[in-house]
Amino acid sequence: MTKLMTIFGRLSLILQTCWVVAVAVVGADLLTLIFYGIFFTDRLLLDLVLTTIITLLVGFPIAYFFLGQQLKLAKMAVRLEQSARTDHLTGLGNRAAFFPDVSSLLDLSGACGALLYIDADHFKSVNDAFGHATGDAVLKSIAKTISEVIREGDVAARIGGEEFVVFLAGATPQKAAEVAERIRFRVLQTVARAAGLLDRSITVSIGISISSGGCSVEQLMSRADKNLYRAKELGRNRIIADEAPDGRTAA
Ligand code: GH3
Ligand code: MG
Ligand code: MG
Repeated sequence: MTKLMTIFGRLSLILQTCWVVAVAVVGADLLTLIFYGIFFTDRLLLDLVLTTIITLLVGFPIAYFFLGQQLKLAKMAVRLEQSARTDHLTGLGNRAAFFPDVSSLLDLSGACGALLYIDADHFKSVNDAFGHATGDAVLKSIAKTISEVIREGDVAARIGGEEFVVFLAGATPQKAAEVAERIRFRVLQTVARAAGLLDRSITVSIGISISSGGCSVEQLMSRADKNLYRAKELGRNRIIADEAPDGRTAA
C-alpha cells in the first residue's frame, strides 16, 4: 500500500485526478450494478451510463481541487524543511542540517571521515572597518570558495557568524589536509577581491579532526574546535589537525 501511494505521489496532478476519478467511476458503477441490477434490471445499461457520466462530472473537479491542495501543501512542506536547513546568507546548510546529516554519514561510512572547522580571522575588524554589508560579502565569498573546493557527498554548513564546518566523508588525514589547504589558499587568493576589498587580505584558520571509527559528530566538533583554537593561538591563517600534535601546520 505504501509503495502504491509512493508511485501515486510521483504522478502529475492531472494523472492523479484521472486515477481517483476512474476508481470512483468503477466503485459507483459497481454499486449501480448491484442495486439497479436487483430492482431495475430493465434499465441497467442506461443507469450505468448515467452513473458514469455523473461521477465523472462531479468527481473530476472535486478530485482535481483537493489533490491540487494536497500537492501544494506537500510542496510547501518541502520548501519549509529546506528553508529550516539553509543558511540564508550563504546558501550553505545551517547548524540544524549539519549535525543530523553528518551523524547519518558517520553511521553509513563506518564512522570514517574528517571534520574541518573553519573560522574567518579578525572578521570583526572587517565589519568595523568596511561595514556589515562588506562583511556579508566576505562570508558569501568564503562559502562559495568552500563549495567550489569540496565534492558532492561532502557536507558544508555555516554554523555561526563567521564559522563554517565541512565534513569529508571517508577522507583520510592526508586528504583532509589537502582539502583544508585548498580552502585556506583559495580564500587568501580570492575572497578579499571578490568582496571588493583591495588593500586588505582575508584569511581563515582551520582545525581538523579525524574519525577512524566510533566517533560522534559532537566529539569531532569538539576536537576540531580545539585544533582551531590552537591555529588561532599560533598566529591564524593556518591549519592544525589531530595528526599534528607538535603544532606543525599542514599547509
Ligand atoms: P578571530 O580571528 O579570533 O576569529 O577574531 P574574529 O574577529 O573573527 O572573531 P569575533 O568572534 O571577535 O568576531 C566575529 C564577528 O562576526 C562579530 C560579529 O559582528 C560578526 N558577525 C557575526 N555574524 C555575522 C553576519 O552574519 N554578518 C556579518 N557581516 N558579520 C557577522
Ligand atoms: Mg573569527
Ligand atoms: Mg568565531
